[in-house]
Amino acid sequence: MNQMAPCRLILLIIVLSFLVSSLNASEGDADPIYKACLEECEKSGCVGEKCFQHCKFSSDGKPIDGPWYLQEPLYQKWKQWDCRTDCQYHCMITREEQREKLGNKPIKYHGKWPFQRVYGIQEPVAVAFSALSLAVQFHGWLSFFILLNYKLPLRPDKKTYYEYTCLWHIYAILAMNFWFWSAIFHSRDVELTEKLDYSSAVALVGYGLILAILRVFNLRDEASRVMVAAPLVAFVTTHILYLNFYKLDYGLNMKVCMAMGVAQLLIWGIWAGITSHPSRWKVWLFVVWGSLVVFLEIYDFPPYKGFVDAHALWHAVSIPLTYFCWSFVQDDAEFRTSTLLKKIK
Ligand SMILES: [Zn+2]
Repeated sequence: MNQMAPCRLILLIIVLSFLVSSLNASEGDADPIYKACLEECEKSGCVGEKCFQHCKFSSDGKPIDGPWYLQEPLYQKWKQWDCRTDCQYHCMITREEQREKLGNKPIKYHGKWPFQRVYGIQEPVAVAFSALSLAVQFHGWLSFFILLNYKLPLRPDKKTYYEYTCLWHIYAILAMNFWFWSAIFHSRDVELTEKLDYSSAVALVGYGLILAILRVFNLRDEASRVMVAAPLVAFVTTHILYLNFYKLDYGLNMKVCMAMGVAQLLIWGIWAGITSHPSRWKVWLFVVWGSLVVFLEIYDFPPYKGFVDAHALWHAVSIPLTYFCWSFVQDDAEFRTSTLLKKIK
């Protein structure tokens, strides 16, 4: 997982860069026919034959009909928001159908490819793969837990011989947190879910870097661990606070994550090249796989049949990475435990 961490990080970075692009205006939302459709829809609440109940507002923004709770500001805000996203979605789909008939290729709208919704889920394939990653992550963590507590010998004080147990538990929690918010974000892309997705990604990338340094340099005493972790934790925390409460700066965030991700990949890659660890090939696998994944993200392509784009594939490719990551961590736990037991004897 150490290895996996670097790969992940790179992957995350990519996600981030993908999101970054959503800030810029796209070809699709500059299209005059799309713009006219949107304007008309927000007034009438209809695109062609299709009408949305969320769009019934009077000129002062209050809902025209409905019970008292529809007058509540928060609920009203949701309704207005729903109206806008419904209009954007249906105008986009209608426009894309027209364009397809004319033989045009798909274009991006508001920084995103035109995806087909399924039961209101914006990017069903990315959601499914995120959920699968979450499940694989949980399975890996559980196997690690069982290995350490029930299969490998424990110290007389009931603690594990493996010195990185607690660090990997924290990693598992951060990774599962990330996949959870990733699934939520791809289901419904709003400011809150976006911030949660970004923040958990940054936390995972930052923590992955700390873990890479601690494991590769074999830092086992508390003082040196704190010396490595403290500045990085402070930096990552400040960055997350900056993104959430000052400015969601996509460009800056991408640079920060890219730097931390590449640093990890390098650390693991170099270590795998010089170590005599019996499972070093797994580290190599991660580094190579991670690079391939980056390649995949660079060659962004529109969703096939409105469902599978490069980012969804990226999510698919990161599933085996999660599996291999935990496979290495388990090997590492066994290797370290047997080394320590030999020393004791
Ligand atoms: Zn994603």
